[in-house]
Amino acid sequence: MNRRKVTKLVREGERVAEVDVELLEEPEGWSPYLSPADAYRLDAVREALRRRRLEDMSHNVLSSVTVPKNSGYAVTVTKGQCVRVAGRSVVDFVAFNLHDLTERFDQARTKTNQAKLFISTGDQLLSKLNNPLLTIVTDTFAQGRHDLQKGMCSRKRFELVAAGLAQRNFIEGVDPNPKRPEDIPTHGCYENLSDAVRPWDIVPVDIPSPFNIFQTMRFDPETGAIFDTFVRPKDEAHVDFRAEMDCLVAVSACPESGRGQAIRVEVFEPEEG
Ligand SMILES: [Zn+2]
Repeated sequence: MNRRKVTKLVREGERVAEVDVELLEEPEGWSPYLSPADAYRLDAVREALRRRRLEDMSHNVLSSVTVPKNSGYAVTVTKGQCVRVAGRSVVDFVAFNLHDLTERFDQARTKTNQAKLFISTGDQLLSKLNNPLLTIVTDTFAQGRHDLQKGMCSRKRFELVAAGLAQRNFIEGVDPNPKRPEDIPTHGCYENLSDAVRPWDIVPVDIPSPFNIFQTMRFDPETGAIFDTFVRPKDEAHVDFRAEMDCLVAVSACPESGRGQAIRVEVFEPEEG
C-alpha cells in the first residue's frame, strides 16, 4: 500500500482551512482513500469552521483587527454598536465621548457609582461626568476578574520597578519583573495608547487610567496590599461592550514584561431583539 501526503482544502462559506492528510493507495479496489482518523479530522475541522461561521453570522461584524503584542489600536463605536475585546493576556482599555473627548472613562466613578471593585456582565463603564460610556454585555473570562485599580505600564514604570523605586508584587511569590536594562520593554501600554489616540489630538497625560481586561489582582483586605497574579484566560476569552453613546475606544495589548500576546478587537452590530 502506498501513502501519499496531500493538503485538503476545507471550505465553509468564506472560511477555508488547509488540512494535511494521507491518501492510502492500493493497487486494487476503491483507492485512494483516507484513513478513518484523517476522515474524522476533516469532519472536525469542517464542524469547527461551521460553528465559527454561525458565530460570525449571529452578529454583523463591521471590523475585526488583530492588535500585535505590545501595540495599541483605537476605533470609533457608534451608540448601540458593540465592541469585542478578545485575547489571552492583559488589555488596557479606555474610552472617550466621541463628541467631547474631554469626557473620558473614570475608574473611580465606575467603582463608586456601582459600589463594587470588579465589573462584569451588566455593569457599566462610566465617564468623569457620571455618564455611561459602555455596558458590558458578555464576559467569558471565567478564571479570574478584570482590574479597576491599576494604571498603565510604561517604560518609566518598568525602570522604576527594576530600580526598586516602585512596587510590583505577585501573589505567586515570584518576581518576573525584568531587571537588566536590555530586558526591559522599550515601551508599554502608556506609549501604545498614546500612539493609538494621537490622530484624535488627545495628549498622553489626558488618557485616563484604564479598565484592565483579563488582569486578575488580589488584595489584602486588612492592609490594602495589592498583588498581581498570573491568572489569565486559559483559552481565548472575550468581553463585549455595548456603546451607550458614540465612543472612541482605545486598547493596548499589554507587554506583560514579555508574556503579553496579540489581541483581537471587533466592532459589530448586535443581533436584533
Ligand atoms: Zn501594560
